[in-house]
Amino acid sequence: MPDSTPIDPGSRPHSTLPYPPIYKDAQFVALSDWDGTITTMDSNDFLTDNLGFGIEKRRALNLEVLAGRITFRDAFREMLRSVAANGHSFQECVEVLKKNIKLDPGFKDFYRWCKEHDVPVVIVSSGMEPTLRGVLSTLLGDDEASEIDVICNSVVVEDDGKKWDIQYRHPDSGYGHDKSWAILPYRELAHRPTLFFFGDGVSDMSAAKHADLLFVKIKANGENDLANYCRENKIRHVEFTSFHDAQAIVTDVVEGKRTVEAVLEAGK
Ligand SMILES: [Mg+2]
Repeated sequence: MPDSTPIDPGSRPHSTLPYPPIYKDAQFVALSDWDGTITTMDSNDFLTDNLGFGIEKRRALNLEVLAGRITFRDAFREMLRSVAANGHSFQECVEVLKKNIKLDPGFKDFYRWCKEHDVPVVIVSSGMEPTLRGVLSTLLGDDEASEIDVICNSVVVEDDGKKWDIQYRHPDSGYGHDKSWAILPYRELAHRPTLFFFGDGVSDMSAAKHADLLFVKIKANGENDLANYCRENKIRHVEFTSFHDAQAIVTDVVEGKRTVEAVLEAGK
């Protein structure tokens, strides 16, 4: 069962960015991380590895975050600043990502299935909205890309894009964007929907524990930090490699063929 401790409104971090309205009447809501979950490759890792200080330093920082020695917020900002420091403008980053980032091969079908079955899809990301929307428009088309709710960070761009820095949604949180606040309001609803959450990485740890059914993406590159975290902390979850697999499970739950509990018990 997800954590059912009542929400303390006072613990809600100050948000510098607005939230989309919540789906009050939905029976099911699918919330998903973007980078490395909906996309096959993490766009911020791609920028850091190719245009910033490189993969070795990036992985070392990821491990520091996992060990609790540095916050995700500070590590992530350091990574992005290494890209800007190498002289890459924000617009250049958007263009590089549009060319290189691909969708999970099952996501389009999954998204359309959700739409047909009244399951809202909300993207919850630590990325910056302009890069995310740019890639989404290229991969999904402008219409579908613009209708999807996205809860993420933003960017402050100065000097014609030569100077840029991430704008955190929750600058006071160690996550920069505490993703749990995309999920928690659903727990307070009179008709609380079943919450699916899909993620793969360190930044998903805050949201992972609040989902009813947590899907953890397993990637071939071995960077499966959320899976490792869930295994170590005994957080029940289902591992998946593409949204095709996930869609089969979501379909069973939405159609009442399997319960969330049965899915978690089977671990599949
Ligand atoms: Mg991710």
